[in-house]
Amino acid sequence: MTRQLVLASNNTGKLKEFGELLATVGFEVHPQGEFNVPEAEEPHITFVENALAKARHAARLTGLPALADDSGICARALGGAPGVYSARYAGEPKSDARNNEKLIAELEPHADKSAYYYCVLVFVRHADDPQPVIADGRWEGEVIAEARGQGGFGYDPYFLLPALGKTVAELSAEEKNRLSHRGQALRALVEKLR
Ligand code: IMP
Repeated sequence: MTRQLVLASNNTGKLKEFGELLATVGFEVHPQGEFNVPEAEEPHITFVENALAKARHAARLTGLPALADDSGICARALGGAPGVYSARYAGEPKSDARNNEKLIAELEPHADKSAYYYCVLVFVRHADDPQPVIADGRWEGEVIAEARGQGGFGYDPYFLLPALGKTVAELSAEEKNRLSHRGQALRALVEKLR
């Protein structure tokens, strides 16, 4: 039996990636825009709280089970910044170019350029679900000062995977899905839902 699930995002890349794997556990994934759900606030200081807020919001407005993700890049030398503020690190309006410039400048005085991408996924059966299903993933790398590659988005051209000698922007979409923080979190979530 196929059940409907609302994804608290309208990103077509996420819809495809999440939809393919969640179909294997019987869910048909619909973006929240299909139900005219407006974007939820993300006021919290932790990834998990923001994802839970987005999932609850989508479940409340649709009456369906909901899935939300929250993600970002965390630099060790910066105490985990930009973290939950990754999308707007350099302020409004959102700009990948300015975010990357700021991250590189903040890391400039530090020898430790290590960072990781983090993603948490939260699934709720309904808006008041007392036991959300939570899974996360983490992808280690380091921040470099010169962009490399054309793929991906956000911080990818500056996020080097030392073991591969490539930035994330130099990976194919399939390689990225296999290795990424989001891919890891998604596979862990699907195992829990199975
Ligand atoms: P969101 O969870 O989709 O809102 O993403 C938060 C922000 O984290 C994005 O706007 C990016 O700046 C950053 N981010 C998250 N995942 C990735 C990734 O896979 N590549 C590059 N940047 C990412």
